[in-house]
Amino acid sequence: MLSAMSKRKKIYDGKAKTLFEGTQPGTLVQYFKDDTTAFNNKKHEIIEGKGILNNFISEYIMQRLGDIGIPTHFIKRLNMREQLIKQVEIIPIELVVRNVVAGSMAKRLGLEEGKVIGRPIVEFYYKNDDLGDPLVTDEHIFAFDWASPFEISGMVSLSLRINDFLCGLFAGAGLRLIDFKLEYGRLQNEDEDTLLVLADEISPDSCRLWDMRTNEIFDKDRFRKDLGGMKEAYQEVARRLGVLPGGVNQNAETRNQAIEPEVE
Ligand code: UDP
Repeated sequence: MLSAMSKRKKIYDGKAKTLFEGTQPGTLVQYFKDDTTAFNNKKHEIIEGKGILNNFISEYIMQRLGDIGIPTHFIKRLNMREQLIKQVEIIPIELVVRNVVAGSMAKRLGLEEGKVIGRPIVEFYYKNDDLGDPLVTDEHIFAFDWASPFEISGMVSLSLRINDFLCGLFAGAGLRLIDFKLEYGRLQNEDEDTLLVLADEISPDSCRLWDMRTNEIFDKDRFRKDLGGMKEAYQEVARRLGVLPGGVNQNAETRNQAIEPEVE
C-alpha cells in the first residue's frame, strides 16, 4: 500500500527536510526528517524523533517571530512531522548571526570558543553544497545577482531584530543563543510586490544553544563533536520552551509515515 507521503508530489528533498506540494496553490508541506548531517553531508545518522522535535520547536519560534511582526513562511503545523508553509523563492544566501565565538569562526580566525562578541556579527554564506557553502561578502552577492542591495539590507536588519528577540526568548529558557543560521525567500503579494520572508527552520539543528549556567551544549554540536545525547538535548530545549510533544519516541515503522495533511 502506498503511504500518504508517497502519493504527494515531492518538490525538493533536502538533508533534513523534504518539501511536498501543498494543499492549496502557493503552499508547500515541509516534512522534518530524522536524518542528521554535518560537515557537508560527510557525517550522517538517523536520530529517531529529531524531526518531530524540530517541527515543534521551529513552529513555536516562527509563531513568536510572527507575533512581533517578522514575516515568515510558516502557516501552521499539520501533524507531528509536517508544517504547511508559503511557497517562496529561496534567496541562495545563508545569514549567520553570531553573539559568541564558536564553530567555523573560531577555526577561521584562530579565536577561542566562548568569547563574547561585543556586538552581533552577521555573515553571508553562498548556499551551494558542492562548494561547501563558502563565506561571501555583500559585494559578491550584488555582483552575481544573488540578492539586491535592498534585499541584503532588509535581511540584515530582520536578522538583527530576530537575534535580539531570540536571545531573550532563549534566556527565558535558561539558554544562551551563541549563533544561528537564517534563510530568506521572496514572496509575491497580490500587488505583485515582492516581500522578504523568513523561511526554512529555526531549531537546534541551525542554532548553537548553551546552558546559561553550565555552558552545556544543547544543539547539533553534540552530533558534530560526538558528544552523544543529542535527542535528549533537543527534548530538553523543547521542554524548556514548553513545546515538548508526546510521541517523540514513536518507533521506526511509524517514523517516516506522514499523516495526510488536513485540507483547508
Ligand atoms: N549552520 C547551519 N547550517 C549550515 C551552516 C551553519 O544551520 O549549513 C548554523 C550552525 O548550526 C551554527 C551557525 O550556523 O549555529 C554557525 O555555523 P558555523 O559557521 O560555525 O559552521 P559549522 O560549525 O556548522 O561548520
